[in-house]
Amino acid sequence: MLLHQLTAKQIQDNIVKRKISCKEVIEDLFNRINEKDSLIKAYISLDEESALERAREIDGKLSNGEDLGVLAGIPIAIKDNICTKNMKTTCASKILENFIPPYDAFVVNNLRKEDAIIIGKTNLDEFAMGSTTENSAFQITRNPWNTEYIPGGSSGGSAAAVSTDIAFMALGSDTGGSVRQPASLCGNVGLKPTYGRVSRYGLIAFASSMDQIGSFTKDVCDAALLLRVISGYDCLDSTCSTLEVEDYVSHINGKFDGLRIGVPKEFFGEGIDREVRNALMNALEIYKKNGAKLIDLSLPHCEYAIATYCIIATAEASSNLARYDGVRYGMRNQLSDDSIMEMYCRTRAEGFGDEVKRRILLGNYVLSAGYYEAYYLKASKVRNLLKSDFDEAFKKVDCIISPTSPTVASKIGEKMTDPLEMYLSDVYTNIANLVGIPGISLPCGFTNSGLPIGMQILGRHFEETQILKVAKLFEMETGFHLKKPELD
Ligand code: GLN
Repeated sequence: MLLHQLTAKQIQDNIVKRKISCKEVIEDLFNRINEKDSLIKAYISLDEESALERAREIDGKLSNGEDLGVLAGIPIAIKDNICTKNMKTTCASKILENFIPPYDAFVVNNLRKEDAIIIGKTNLDEFAMGSTTENSAFQITRNPWNTEYIPGGSSGGSAAAVSTDIAFMALGSDTGGSVRQPASLCGNVGLKPTYGRVSRYGLIAFASSMDQIGSFTKDVCDAALLLRVISGYDCLDSTCSTLEVEDYVSHINGKFDGLRIGVPKEFFGEGIDREVRNALMNALEIYKKNGAKLIDLSLPHCEYAIATYCIIATAEASSNLARYDGVRYGMRNQLSDDSIMEMYCRTRAEGFGDEVKRRILLGNYVLSAGYYEAYYLKASKVRNLLKSDFDEAFKKVDCIISPTSPTVASKIGEKMTDPLEMYLSDVYTNIANLVGIPGISLPCGFTNSGLPIGMQILGRHFEETQILKVAKLFEMETGFHLKKPELD
């Protein structure tokens, strides 16, 4: 296998055993990036110089026999809505095109402490609003399995980078499925932790009660490795949990004693692509053969999840995005005789793209006097009903399995004309954000035309270990994660 094809764990083993230096890893990776990224367009910015410098430092530590961090020498890509000190963080928006944060996000700080090497920032739908990465103000990222197709979104750049082998690991953010869905469409492992497991400090806010930073990796073991590093208490995020971080890696190979898998009928109903359904049915059979019990479930309020998500996400977004006013952050657009109000309007009109504006309008509407009770308050109540659906379900089962997305990747341009259809494609993922539970997506097959199909495993709050273990079992039985797109 070629160097860039190895998993993060394998790369690290090689570095620690000194079979290869960090510098060589970075050089090899940037050769690959230079060769492939013009086709895929996963990165908004790259920082080869700092990456090489860091690699030399880590090589130095290694030869001096100093202690190394748990991600020593592993190159990692970061979604461009996560703040990186002295490195542009644009949210794929014109309004933040030249924004350079003066601080690192909590997760980035943790990565640096553990000697990971940050190589660049990846493309996304503007402010993480979208499911295709076509809403970026700068470029359209392509799916490495077929470059005429979308990589999913909003973290499409991170997903495509990992599947193209131009990053060993990547971070994304998941507010309604933006880690799990692109992982599914690009054929890698996407993990959204429990709300509160990972600090949101330095993640540019979209919908704060649902935003959570997650990971893209080549296999489940790498997901466990990375989760351990990015998790933990942070006093700068008041919703961050104080619960102790587990050693996920050492638990993922554990045996099951009568695993109970929930199969909700609402997740296998109308609208699923036939090939996606078949792949999921085969996957469930594999679990059954391995001693799991499949239990039919109902989550009766699921049909309201998308409407609820749309109201809560847009309400929070409209409030979070009020800060981009041309004064405090990013660009300002002002003619010489503009009043301050005209300056605000001009800046926001030119700085935000259509999807972001659509959500700001919708969010202000559902929060406005007279409509607040009818929409926002009602959505908050339905959110509680959804939570009780899951509380009930998790009394009977240990995890829940569904497709990650009802369909595989679509052609570039195909979904752009109908925003409603795009919102509907999050039907299996956004529930986890409303309820706050963890979810993982992993490859479970391919269509006849060669596009990856993803399976989602949902677990109880803070039971990341359990879903990683369930995912690992499938990975060992099948090996879909080993297949690579033919880009060469
Ligand atoms: N596709 C969803 C949306 O457009 C989810 C986005 C996300 O998780 N950031 O809102």
